[in-house]
Amino acid sequence: MNVLDRYGLTKIINARGTFTPLGVSRSSDQVSRAVAEALQDYFVIDELQDLVSRKLAGIAGSEAGAVTHCVAAGITMSIAAAMVGTSPEKIAALPDTKGIPNRVVLPANHAIDYGHPIQQAVRLAGATPVLAGTVDECSLADIDGQLRHADTCCLLLVSSRLTTGRSVDLSAAVDASHLRGVPTIIDGAAQDMRIKELLATNADLVLVSAHKYMASPTAGLVIGRKALVDAVRAQERGIGRAMKATKEAIIGVLSALEERSVLHIAEWRETQACKVSDFVGRANELPGVKARSVPDPAGMPFMRAHVQVDDRQTGVNARSLAVALKNGVPSIWVMDDKIADGDIVFELVQTDRDEIDTILAQLSKLLSRSSSPDGS
Ligand SMILES: *Cc1c(COP(=O)(O)O)cnc(C)c1O
Repeated sequence: MNVLDRYGLTKIINARGTFTPLGVSRSSDQVSRAVAEALQDYFVIDELQDLVSRKLAGIAGSEAGAVTHCVAAGITMSIAAAMVGTSPEKIAALPDTKGIPNRVVLPANHAIDYGHPIQQAVRLAGATPVLAGTVDECSLADIDGQLRHADTCCLLLVSSRLTTGRSVDLSAAVDASHLRGVPTIIDGAAQDMRIKELLATNADLVLVSAHKYMASPTAGLVIGRKALVDAVRAQERGIGRAMKATKEAIIGVLSALEERSVLHIAEWRETQACKVSDFVGRANELPGVKARSVPDPAGMPFMRAHVQVDDRQTGVNARSLAVALKNGVPSIWVMDDKIADGDIVFELVQTDRDEIDTILAQLSKLLSRSSSPDGS
């Protein structure tokens, strides 16, 4: 009996992406076995962290790396590291930042909400987020205008499909902060296939989730300059106590990194593209449906299927169709951030062939039911 049946839990098909309220991702057998093994032993945690650091350096070409509980934790710990370094007294004092430069500059169009507002992850360290520009646009002059203040401790940038307006040139923003002697942190939580690109901006730290597309247990990766990575780890003796990575998470990350290092990205991209174009083709055969493939706006190498329904023909709009999918058995979860435009978005990276068949069968059933004239 599987764990869902044992506890009478809801069976999910996840077409919503790496979504925290659904458990983010499913790990491979190899990663699951490594985690199970880790749970049955002791480790010198510093030795595990040093090992991951060397692996990440080898993979990403960075000086160092570390594992935190998740990226939300990594943001708070990185900001703390930028403010107080490895000073034991200051680490113990946080989140009290009296006498410590604590302004964190964040483009207003990067002030995203990934489950909570990113500014809260900043404030948790005792820092003060300061927004540059507007939700529509943040220029280099806007950023520099805020960096100029003496109390600035770092620049925080985000690489995500959730950012709004005109995109900020990340490399140019990093250069601007370095000209002022200010370190830069990039939150690229869901961009784990673009670590090298993000590091190539010259950012001091790049943060990615290991439990999103890399499918490790819950963990955040902090990658970049050794002095700052060391300072992030040092926060575990302060506010980072509640944000530490567990032994099983670190072992799971090591295993997931091994899998990632042998993944053939071009083949993977091709497989994902075929999966989405097949889904789009079959969805377009349904009455009143217009489907198309749309690339990830932040540059991850995969597409999503955007599905529009003609509510005059089908008698059902996108929003109620998404609700009906969720209320079915199994419960099908979709991305609903474009639903006001009539777009239901399906992310299929983590779905298998049978699940895709089930989604299409369920769509077909719901659309034919609502379009039948007598409503039966
Ligand atoms: C998912 C996400 C986070 C949070 O990552 P966790 O590892 O789940 O804490 C932060 N920022 C962005 C852009 C995200 O997509």
